Formats: sequence, structure tokens, C-alpha cells
Amino acid sequence: MGRKLAAVKGMNDIYPPESAQWEWFEQHVRALMGACAYGSIRTPIVEYTQLFVKGTGETTDIVEKEMYSFEDRLNGEQLTLRPENTPGVVRAAIEHNLTYDGGKRLYYIGPMFRHERPQRGRYRQFYQLGAEALGFAGAEVDAELIVLASELLDRLGLPGVRVELNSLGVSSERQQHRVALIAYFERHAALLDADAQRRLRTNPLRILDTKNPAMQELVGGAPQLLDFLGEASLKHFDAVKSLLSACSVPWSVNPRAVRGLDYYSHTVFEFVTDELGAQGTLCGGGRYDGLFELLGGKPTPAVGWGMGIERVLELVRVRGQSVAPATLDAFAIVPEPGAYALVFPVLQALRAAGISVQMHAGTGDAVGSMKSQFRRADASGARYALVFGAAELAQGMVTVKALRDGSGTQTTRELARAGEWACTLQSHT
Ligand code: ATP
Ligand code: MG
Repeated sequence: MGRKLAAVKGMNDIYPPESAQWEWFEQHVRALMGACAYGSIRTPIVEYTQLFVKGTGETTDIVEKEMYSFEDRLNGEQLTLRPENTPGVVRAAIEHNLTYDGGKRLYYIGPMFRHERPQRGRYRQFYQLGAEALGFAGAEVDAELIVLASELLDRLGLPGVRVELNSLGVSSERQQHRVALIAYFERHAALLDADAQRRLRTNPLRILDTKNPAMQELVGGAPQLLDFLGEASLKHFDAVKSLLSACSVPWSVNPRAVRGLDYYSHTVFEFVTDELGAQGTLCGGGRYDGLFELLGGKPTPAVGWGMGIERVLELVRVRGQSVAPATLDAFAIVPEPGAYALVFPVLQALRAAGISVQMHAGTGDAVGSMKSQFRRADASGARYALVFGAAELAQGMVTVKALRDGSGTQTTRELARAGEWACTLQSHT
């Protein structure tokens, strides 16, 4: 016997009953995305490393230290397990010219990979729901996306998660702010930690989102990008804010919310809660008008967000909301192994009529006593037992017994007419 094999650290198995919560989440996503006319996109989990170096940004934590990269042994190409999916979506949009006839609204659900220290709400394989609107320049689409995320949380029974907004304006405005920011930090060089000293040259904007408590005061007094915005940028930002207010989305401005990458512009936002400890950001996004060009495409305005599914489902649990598992309509009790040939077509007819049925399965030679099968039927949560006993089968019948309503009512039904009586098993709740 070798060592027991276990999942890779920070990568989780998701199985029943918890997986029902994931399906519940996905059903809400599909319904809402459909209602907002977003189509789904599925891109590969592996991309060329260069895509993320360029598209996520060389000076981000992700590219500096979190990527799972490897060389394809067969041809020496540098590949990476996607740490996020905006670069992949934009790459696909350029490759297939998805915006040739106007804007495209897209969403995806899938695993992302980052080499982080595993802890609550932070895993090495985690799942994101993402929404991206490609080819739209107007503030109304920024607002549409934020309202979409907010509406999803509402539908999941998670109202009131606060939305922090900021505007990064346009490149020339960020350039002026950058000069002021560097001058400010240089005046206080002695207070900068090692990370900040390094970023002062590469990406000073990112010093603003430091998590170091010792630097909070310094960062709090730094020049704010908002003060450098011109009229057009302010107008765009105001339009987003008033649309959110019109939808009663609880927003506030956080001047320190920065994405810290040059291809971001105008609106950036995060959905934040205090109910999950340190990992309280459920969703983050913004406008990335410069990304298409950076990846070799035609200039194309775009905006999007990514939402951490584990964190959202954790908030569902923390708020004490339980997701009802799917209920089973019927359990098929089969006392004789020889009866299965008659049982199968009946179950097929019931399932075709929308009834869920779990079939008893034995151990190969034996099927188990009636008593033990009834125990399983009870444990399954089914509302009816279908008893395919020899006596019934001989007459072309099956016994239907109510398990949950306390009545124990029993009727017999014709095997050949299962499609007709199926409706009597339907749940009425
Ligand atoms: P954080 O500041 O928490 O590291 P981030 O800025 O790296 O987040 P994004 O790249 O914006 O996160 O990803 C969007 C969302 O994906 C986050 O808001 C979060 O909900 C989720 N997320 C990010 N990293 C992880 C992870 N390692 N495990 C679980 N969820 C994650
Ligand atoms: Mg991170």
C-alpha cells in the first residue's frame, strides 16, 4: 500500500449535499444572465503565460507570485493555469472578432488557480463567476454590470452588501496624479515599507491598496486620484452613481479602491462585506478600455467583474440561510432482482413526465428485504414508495404508497400507464 492520495492543498472537492448549494447558485446565475441578455463563454483553463503577464499585469501580486506556470514538455511553450479570466475572454474576443457587429455581453463560471496561502475564503483552486461587456463605452453599462451583481446577491438572499466605487479617470489624469503621488511618497520615504519602495518606481498607485496597517496613515494622506479628474471623467462617474441610486444599490466612494493597472479607466468597484473576516471582498471589477489594444486588438472599450463563488456561498452559510436540497418524488422498491426488466420502462416513463425517482439497487445477488428497502425509501426523503412486488407485477400493476403525509395511503396503478398517473406524484409545493 502506498501513501493515501489526497487532494492538492488549497484545492477542494465539492460533493453532495454541499454541491446542491453550488447548483442552486448556478441556476440563479443562468436565470439572471438570461434576463439581462448575457451569453456564456467558455475559454481554456490553460493559456500562454504571456497573456497573463500582459493582461493581468507584470506588477500585480498574481503575476509576481501567484501563477501556476509550467513548460509544455513536448514543445517548450510557457503555459499558465488561468489565475483570472478577463485576459482569456479578451483574447478570445480578439481572436474571433466577437465585437464585429457591436457590443457583446458575456459571462462565465469556472475554476481559477492562484498559489496563495490557503485559508478561509482563499484557496489555490477557486471558482469565479465573471461578467464582461465588450465594446460598450457608456456609463450605463458600468451601472448595468454593478446592478447585475447586486441583483444576483439579492436573489441569493444576500441583500445589503456594500458597493465601494472609485474612478480612475483616463490616462492623462492618472499621469498627473502619479507625479503628485510619487512626490508625496518621496517626501515620506522613511515611512515606506519594502513593498512600497519597490512599487514607488514600478506602480505607485498600488501602494494605495497596501494591507500593511503601519502604512495606513501615510496612505490616507496621499493625493487622491479623484481630485485630478477632468469634467468628462467626472460626468461619467456621476452618471454611474446616479443610476445606482436609481436602483437603490448601497454605494459609497472609496478613493483608495484602485486597480493599479494602466489599462483600467473610469469606474472601478468592489462588493465588500464585514461578515467574512479578512476575505471580505466578494466581487471586484471595473472598466478596462485599454486591454484590447494591449493584447493586440483594435481599441475596444470594455467593463467587467469577477465574483468569488466560495465567498458568496460562505456568506449564505454565515447568514444562516439554508438551501433546501432538491426533494425526491419517489423511491422504487424492487423485492425481486428479476423484476428490473419491468421496472426500468416504468421509471423511464415517470422521469419523462418530470418525476424524480431513485431506484433501489441491491448487492448483485440479493436485493435486500422489503423492510430494509422501506428504510432506505424513508431515508431518501422521497414522498412516495413505488412497490414493484411479484403479486402486483403479475397483474401489470405497481403499488404507490405515500410516505410523508402521515396517511400511508396506498393505491395500485397500471405499469403500462405510468405516463398518465405520473402527475399524481408531482410535488405541489
Ligand atoms: P483579494 O484582495 O481578496 O486577494 P483579489 O483582488 O486578488 O482579491 P480579484 O482578482 O479581483 O481578487 O478576483 C475577484 C474575486 O475572486 C475576489 O473578490 C474574491 O471574491 C475572489 N478570489 C480572489 N482570489 C481568491 C482565492 N484565492 N480564493 C477564493 N476566492 C478568491
Ligand atoms: Mg489576491
